[in-house]
Amino acid sequence: MLPLVALVGRPNVGKSTLFNALTRSRDALVHDQPGVTRDRHYGVCRPEGQRSFAIVDTGGIAGEDEGLAGATAKQARAAAEEADLVLFIVDGREGASALDDDILAWLRKTARPTLLVVNKTDGLEVQAALNDFARYGFNDVVAVSSAHRQGIDTLIEQVLKKLPEEGAATELDSDPARIRVAFIGRPNVGKSTLVNRLLGEERMIASDVPGTTRDSVAIDMERDGRLYRLIDTAGLRRKSKVDEAVEKFSIIKTLQAIEQCQVAVVMLDAGEGVTDQDASVLGYALDAGRALVVAVNKWDGQTDYQRQQAEQLLARKLGFVDWAEAVRISAKHGSGLRELFKAIHRAHASATHEFSTSEVTKALEIAYETNPPPVVRGHVAKLRYAHPVASNPPTFAVHGNRLRTLSDTYRRYLENFFRKRFKLVGTPVRFVFKEGA
Ligand code: GDP
Ligand code: GDP
Repeated sequence: MLPLVALVGRPNVGKSTLFNALTRSRDALVHDQPGVTRDRHYGVCRPEGQRSFAIVDTGGIAGEDEGLAGATAKQARAAAEEADLVLFIVDGREGASALDDDILAWLRKTARPTLLVVNKTDGLEVQAALNDFARYGFNDVVAVSSAHRQGIDTLIEQVLKKLPEEGAATELDSDPARIRVAFIGRPNVGKSTLVNRLLGEERMIASDVPGTTRDSVAIDMERDGRLYRLIDTAGLRRKSKVDEAVEKFSIIKTLQAIEQCQVAVVMLDAGEGVTDQDASVLGYALDAGRALVVAVNKWDGQTDYQRQQAEQLLARKLGFVDWAEAVRISAKHGSGLRELFKAIHRAHASATHEFSTSEVTKALEIAYETNPPPVVRGHVAKLRYAHPVASNPPTFAVHGNRLRTLSDTYRRYLENFFRKRFKLVGTPVRFVFKEGA
């Protein structure tokens, strides 16, 4: 399970700056693509080679109890109460304030494990800044400068130490023959209608996967002779009226489901196009490097004219994931599902394909010869050889010289070249560039 870390603190201490420092995607290419919107409150920190964790920036938490601010505060509290760890953020420049005291008092009541983070310590005498908060009695204190990314690695280390044990491996990936699929999307796009149809319509053996907890129930199913494991379907099958605070929590569930699946099926509502919320769900799947299929649902309710409009809108708004297949379906009537599952298979096959070093180096050579990188300020990058380093998503190491001068455009060219050459659909493709040798 993806653990949850909540950022709590009064306004202006630097929570959103810290949030960005922790969640900023390593893949700048993905981050800069127009069309991807980012939710400013939920993200995932993925320390290299270590355990990932979800982060919620709770915004303002203190005081306000009425109106919109009240609703935000309520959500923030709900998030903090559920978190595996709370980071209590304070401002090292301003020192402890009455509002900090109030938040601390509230935090003590929640009894969640808490780490004190003293921010804005850039240019400060750190010990003096920490002393100001000594009376709070924390054993675990980390000084950081979020704006300058100082102390962030130490903070991540401390966070990882304090998170609960990973626990006995939930047996989610116990069966390699099964494709792990998650149906995700904003509320009302038709996720539970689809899952219920899949589970009801097929004469399949649906069974809860042993070892999965109440929070993440997976269900096995078979369709057209193939085996699947549907991730996080519990929340989909039993729907209940949820208040807004809980609704927000479904984002955490979405993040967890993305983490656990191999193929993410992002569902959209044909009648509503691609909303900001849809784009941020897509962004989460991209950040996680998941194989992706877009299911455009409720295709049944559309007139020909509306379908035409929808097609245009989708083409425009989904440009940033043009490598993902978009399938038109009706969860209600069960149409398009065969195509949907074919697309899931293609995405999975692409994402998990095993490449040989020779075919990868060959591809690089041809890409390089066909279109060498342009000269940048008198320098030109030299690409020497490449080899596969990971799958799901396919990741290639490229060795060469002056690789820093490679433009985003050229990196995209390489990506597209590899996609075409290896006929990869429905999966992100990543490159790591290694200078020298
Ligand atoms: P939030 O309201 O808690 O989310 O705070 P913000 O992240 O919006 O930051 C509030 C202000 O503090 C902004 O002007 C930031 O640029 C500034 N700030 C945040 N982190 C740091 C830091 O590490 N050092 C300094 N000097 N300023 C910071
Ligand atoms: P969820 O919140 O994503 O799980 O969405 P639901 O499955 O609860 O569906 C939301 C609403 O959309 C319900 O009223 C469904 O009956 C309706 N709905 C779901 N799928 C379809 C579809 O394919 N066509 C039409 N016309 N309505 C649908």
